[in-house]
Amino acid sequence: MSEKKEKVAIVPGSFDPITNGHIDVIERTAQIFDKVIVGVAISPEKTPVFTIEERVGFIEEVFNKSKKIMVKPYDSLLVEFARENGAQIIVRGLRAVSDFEREFQIAQFNKKLDPSVETLFLMSSPTYMYLSSSAVKEIAFYGGCVRGLVPHHVEKALKKIFKKQ
Ligand code: ADP
Repeated sequence: MSEKKEKVAIVPGSFDPITNGHIDVIERTAQIFDKVIVGVAISPEKTPVFTIEERVGFIEEVFNKSKKIMVKPYDSLLVEFARENGAQIIVRGLRAVSDFEREFQIAQFNKKLDPSVETLFLMSSPTYMYLSSSAVKEIAFYGGCVRGLVPHHVEKALKKIFKKQ
């Protein structure tokens, strides 16, 4: 009898920085699949506020006790990153209607590039429906409180980085 193949899912994003909305999607993905790889896009064109090392570090700190969830940076086509990691599924979070069109387009392109990779969408939990990294950065930039929107260590890092500017 052949052994059952491990189901590996990739949860990609820029995670600049990780929010509680991302965490919710990653944890729910881990309940469905054997292994989850959080792929952190280096995305220099987006001029992230946090370096790739910081963004990866923030996520690792959240999931350091999990045996199922791994964090890896990537700087290639997402389907290539998925292939290199033996992942058959890409999981994306879907917030309000505004995410849909862009996500639909990305999923179509990924399917064209590698038909063996499927994209699945998890609906955002209502609490995090309007939460985004950019909103969190804007609030923190103007000195607002981001408690409950991001993990505590990210809240501290946001305060520190925007105090400097
Ligand atoms: P990108 O820079 O590609 O938009 P992000 O880091 O913003 O990536 O987000 C990564 C993934 O997490 C995307 O699928 C995005 O839709 C999803 N996501 C972001 N915020 C939330 C949220 N609050 N609830 C559910 N999914 C979310």
